[in-house]
Amino acid sequence: MKRHAQAVVIGGGVVGVSVLYHLTKAGWKDVLLIERAELTSGSTWHAAGGMHTVNGDPNVAKLQQYTINLYEEIERISGQSCGVHITGGIMLAGTQERLDWLKMAQARGRYLGMDLEMISVDEAARLFPLMDKQHFTGAMYDPIEGHVDPYGVTHAYAKAAEIAGAEVVRRTRVTELKARADGSWDVITEHGSVHAEHVVNAGGLWAREVGRMVGLELPILAMQHQYILTDDIAQLAGRPEQLHCIDFEGEIYLRQERGGMLMGTYERAGAPWSEHTTPWDFGQDLLPNDLERIAPSLEIGFEHFPALGSVGIRKVINGPFTFAPDGNPLIGPIKGLRNFWVACGVMAGFSQGGGVGLTLAHWMVDGDPGADIWGMDVARYGGWATLAYTNAKVRENYSRRFRIRFPNEELEAARPLRTTPVYDRLAAQNAVFGEYCALEHALWFAPPGVAAKESITFRRSNAHEHVAAECRNVRTAVGLLEISTYGKFEIDGPGAAEWLDYLMANRVPAVGRIGLTPMLNERGKLIGDFTMCRLSENHVFLIGTYAAENYYMRWFERHLPATGVRVRPCATEYVGLSVAGPQARALLQGLVHEDLSNTAFPFLSFKRIDVGMIPALLGRVSFTGDLGYEIWVTGDYQRALYDLLFAAGRAHGIRLVGARALNSMRLEKSFGTWAREYRPIYSPYEASLARFVDLSKGDFIGRSAAVGDKGRVGGVRLVAFSVAAADADASGDEPIWHDGKVVGAVTSGGFGHSAQTSIALGYVPAELAQAAGSFEVEIIGVRRAARRLDAAAFDPQGLRMRS
Ligand SMILES: Cc1cc2nc3c(=O)[nH]c(=O)nc-3n(C[C@H](O)[C@H](O)[C@H](O)COP(=O)(O)OP(=O)(O)OC[C@H]3O[C@@H](n4cnc5c(N)ncnc54)[C@H](O)[C@@H]3O)c2cc1C
Repeated sequence: MKRHAQAVVIGGGVVGVSVLYHLTKAGWKDVLLIERAELTSGSTWHAAGGMHTVNGDPNVAKLQQYTINLYEEIERISGQSCGVHITGGIMLAGTQERLDWLKMAQARGRYLGMDLEMISVDEAARLFPLMDKQHFTGAMYDPIEGHVDPYGVTHAYAKAAEIAGAEVVRRTRVTELKARADGSWDVITEHGSVHAEHVVNAGGLWAREVGRMVGLELPILAMQHQYILTDDIAQLAGRPEQLHCIDFEGEIYLRQERGGMLMGTYERAGAPWSEHTTPWDFGQDLLPNDLERIAPSLEIGFEHFPALGSVGIRKVINGPFTFAPDGNPLIGPIKGLRNFWVACGVMAGFSQGGGVGLTLAHWMVDGDPGADIWGMDVARYGGWATLAYTNAKVRENYSRRFRIRFPNEELEAARPLRTTPVYDRLAAQNAVFGEYCALEHALWFAPPGVAAKESITFRRSNAHEHVAAECRNVRTAVGLLEISTYGKFEIDGPGAAEWLDYLMANRVPAVGRIGLTPMLNERGKLIGDFTMCRLSENHVFLIGTYAAENYYMRWFERHLPATGVRVRPCATEYVGLSVAGPQARALLQGLVHEDLSNTAFPFLSFKRIDVGMIPALLGRVSFTGDLGYEIWVTGDYQRALYDLLFAAGRAHGIRLVGARALNSMRLEKSFGTWAREYRPIYSPYEASLARFVDLSKGDFIGRSAAVGDKGRVGGVRLVAFSVAAADADASGDEPIWHDGKVVGAVTSGGFGHSAQTSIALGYVPAELAQAAGSFEVEIIGVRRAARRLDAAAFDPQGLRMRS
């Protein structure tokens, strides 16, 4: 084993070898993989090897496409077969809702260039004769599905990496990791130590343990997963290999294995494995079978596919593999640790391993993943994702693997966990709660006599009319909203303003003012959008997206000077309430001594002000697009503030307003949000944020790229549409058609209650951003006429928020 390497990858499962291969491909040849036993000695060796392109997140779907296409390349380089069988696959629907879901998946696939096809039950039965037609209503066909040989794939990656110069060391466990002052690592193993500039944790089943070596508790949990292999089935003899099949109602998957079938299930009562610590002596082992646990699914399987029930079970496999709470991988660098990277929680290694390796290698070598991997970024989880939280969410996610997630559906596991002081007050007012970063927040309020429960649906729900009433209240009187779910940072010190000016694309505002700004990476792409509130010369209160707190902190730390600037995340220390609507000023003026007139406290003002007896930070800004104020207080004051505003607001017609109404109002104002409209694949010019980029202010990160991007022809543009929807609005990822061709995808959508139209925001090619011709947005399989909006659907001049 070499004693020094540019990077050490810990773990020789399918993910570790892919990272190793991609590092060599990206130009790092002095790389070493250390495996505790033989390659594949974690979950990899007993995997069913299935692979598919469909994924709920289009960006993850793209990486799955990449992975599948990669097998030919590593086979060619290594000479090792990956045992690729592209059989094609069908997804069977047994209900109308599932059919709708499939139509939506097919529509999403259109934008990604996937060739998915809706087919009838008869057609499905012709392609997959084992099914009993009476249980199904329709199906979708995907030509790019199949399976690989897990052993072959892992060794092909490893050999291809070795050919490029990498070293693979087996039967050597990493036991300790020690950070050096210069950011490099001493990797201590059973057989001596290696000095590494970078370390990658690809420990799979042991990723938690490897994380703990550096004080990190990763939110991952292994679940036991079982599949059966049947005896030979006479019906299959002499026929071409059967398609892969997912039976959503049965919650099972099937594929052919030799002369029989492989059938697996993600059962509802799934069982975790090694909840706290994974034993080091577990290797190429299986867990004891527990057929009883999956018996309900097997019974349905035998009913839906009778031939499987007519033969014996040849073998049962029960093996563990790891999941993050949302089922997506955890990849990237870790805030607070230098040169330490993770690539773990990969539950679909044979669909995703290639994409994970590619993006992580780019990130390490180029400083940027080169793709939009927000959905897989380890930074999306904060300290709230404890082991027990992860346990509850992973079990839920596992049990729902084949269930539909409706756009308005809130999942129940691990709730309520985090609440703000006004939670009980809101609950007493019939709030229907949602969860965001484990924090409860009100979605809408059921009027007296109406059940505080939302029906889950692809269409407009029972909340529609109540949300409409909340929006009306904001537009005609005043609404009271809790706004605690934003991320907040205090930035202070003598160098604070100068540092922020270099970090952000817009100028830091004057003392007492608010400035909106994108944050760009070196490539000029959007990695954040913030509200900068200047409290004093040396103190800025920064508001952004809470889910991205660690993502931002990672970036801030990377660019923080040794002295002179302090950055402190304070999201839950400051909770907030907002009042918005034409009566907001009159309401608030009655509670503060300072003059709140438009001249004294105009739009985008910010100040420390006492509201009644409550010390607060007051900003004149509102995401509703109306006259409004955001009031930030520490948690101990929030209930008093709520009571004060609510009592004083009665005379002004106050009403509680939730997140659904806020979403409706921001859509009709064409206001984008992080992780939907604003993502690291778009420039601010593409995202219609040009007015917030100040190229005249001097240098800032991403400036030279932004100079090139400004006025650049081509690329995409964010556009708003008024959609002639019927009873369902766009919710995200629906294709946008123009003159009969798919040209883009929706980033978010919903009904604009004040503008009285269904609205969709989405990206289209720049040359179409001003185009005539007919646009359509495809919603649940139906193409709905869409009119491009030149300005916001509501108050296009923005007069109300400035009034
Ligand atoms: C029954 C079953 C069926 C499955 N079916 C499919 C499927 O059809 N399709 C699909 O895509 N996925 C499937 N999976 C999931 C798939 O197996 C995983 O996604 C994949 O194996 C994850 O690979 P990994 O490299 O992250 O982890 P692992 O395979 O667990 O690899 C981690 C490696 O790191 C090594 N290691 C850990 N700690 C150390 C250390 N300190 N020092 C040195 N080495 C260390 C381990 O020995 C191990 O070899 C299935 C899983 C199971 C259990």
